[in-house]
Amino acid sequence: MANPMADEMRRFKASDEKNPFEAMSERFDRAAQLLGLDPDLYAVMRVPSRELKVYIPVRMDSGHIEVFEGFRVQHNFARGPAKGGIRYAPDVTLDEVKALSAWMTWKCAVVNIPFGGAKGGIICNPIQMSQNELERLTRRYTAELFDFIGPDRDVPAPDMNTNEQTMAWIMDTYSMHKGYTVNAVVTGKPVALGGSLGRREATGRGVLFCVSEAIKKFNLLPEQTSVVVQGSGNVGGIGAQLMYEKGYKVTAISDVSGGVHNAKGLHIPEVLAYLQANKTLEGYAEADYVSNSELLEIECDVLAPCATENQITSENAGRIKCKILAEGANGPTTPKADKILHDNGIFVIPDILANAGGVTVSYFEWVQDRMGYFWREDEVNQRLEEKMVASFKELSDLAELHQVDSRTAAYMLAIDRVAYDTKMRGIYA
Ligand code: NAD
Repeated sequence: MANPMADEMRRFKASDEKNPFEAMSERFDRAAQLLGLDPDLYAVMRVPSRELKVYIPVRMDSGHIEVFEGFRVQHNFARGPAKGGIRYAPDVTLDEVKALSAWMTWKCAVVNIPFGGAKGGIICNPIQMSQNELERLTRRYTAELFDFIGPDRDVPAPDMNTNEQTMAWIMDTYSMHKGYTVNAVVTGKPVALGGSLGRREATGRGVLFCVSEAIKKFNLLPEQTSVVVQGSGNVGGIGAQLMYEKGYKVTAISDVSGGVHNAKGLHIPEVLAYLQANKTLEGYAEADYVSNSELLEIECDVLAPCATENQITSENAGRIKCKILAEGANGPTTPKADKILHDNGIFVIPDILANAGGVTVSYFEWVQDRMGYFWREDEVNQRLEEKMVASFKELSDLAELHQVDSRTAAYMLAIDRVAYDTKMRGIYA
């Protein structure tokens, strides 16, 4: 009899270390095997439910039409509507969007919120596009996806190079087609349009809550803990700022072109203001300028890669010198690197927990939109803390029980929850 799990595992053995879907699948396979996942459930859960590819004509400011390629992958609906961000970047691929959609399924299950996973992307270079071009691109993409998204179907959110404004355009376009305002169609909206207080900071705050739990395992206090952050956007910049405010010693931070390092600790509000004003960290007087690869290898207690995928690979994992790796970004570590980090005793807070603060508050936003009743910011933050701390504990207990690393435990927790719900619903086959 065919064994789909074994076949898939063979196929991926000699594969490309940096393919994010393969990276996701390798972790999924390991956890599925440890759980003894039923082969029927394995076959269903391993692949997305739906992959949509759209060609998006956009009238550029110069008057001509350019056609962009866009994707929306809906990975799983077993626990509720699909949920996931949309990224705009020149190097978006379908495999990347597929991986990110699956990570959303596992992430929502790890923090136990009633969503499945989805992700979207458009191949474009947003830096070279005007606001008007981006608006037309976003509206036409939304119109193409009209039948597939919605508060009960699939709820997009921001990701790399998309923001509150992008969500406002999606919400408006969807509402125009519907004939009435549907603010629960997206999350990460401006607060005035039904967004949630605390959503903008939620992912960085979630990273902070996880790090605060993890340092307890090392008997460290925030003021004794040095932190290196890669990325200074929504996750890295806000995460660094919040850790700085809690007394952590943030010694290095970067953006795409490079970073700054000062072993004595950086004044993060000043660094971020410098970046905002100069669009680069180069030239910041109170620190040394370092490349992104040098930054990752700085000795520290906590390394938080909060930029993009495949930053820690088999090539540099042996030179990573942190106690705790807090994965603010999605997929910053390859499976080959996992093994090296594990052998070197590095404690990993896996992405599907570490950056789940964003989707948790997106869930709160969706709930508030549907109730039409909005919470105070301190209520949002307190509920987020409860979720993150409880999930961290559940994951730690599971890792202990099965004697596995924390990433494997996170996948086991998530897969078990999705499998249970899928089994209860039954497979309509
Ligand atoms: P962002 O666009 O706000 O910021 C990205 C940061 O990373 C910027 O400082 C950018 O200069 C830097 N960067 C980009 N490419 C880089 C590279 N190749 N090397 C080094 N630095 C690079 O994006 P974000 O929202 O902060 O997202 C960052 C990561 O976190 C992504 O992996 C995203 O999927 C993930 N994530 C974001 C959220 C969220 O709520 N924003 C939630 C969960 C996960």
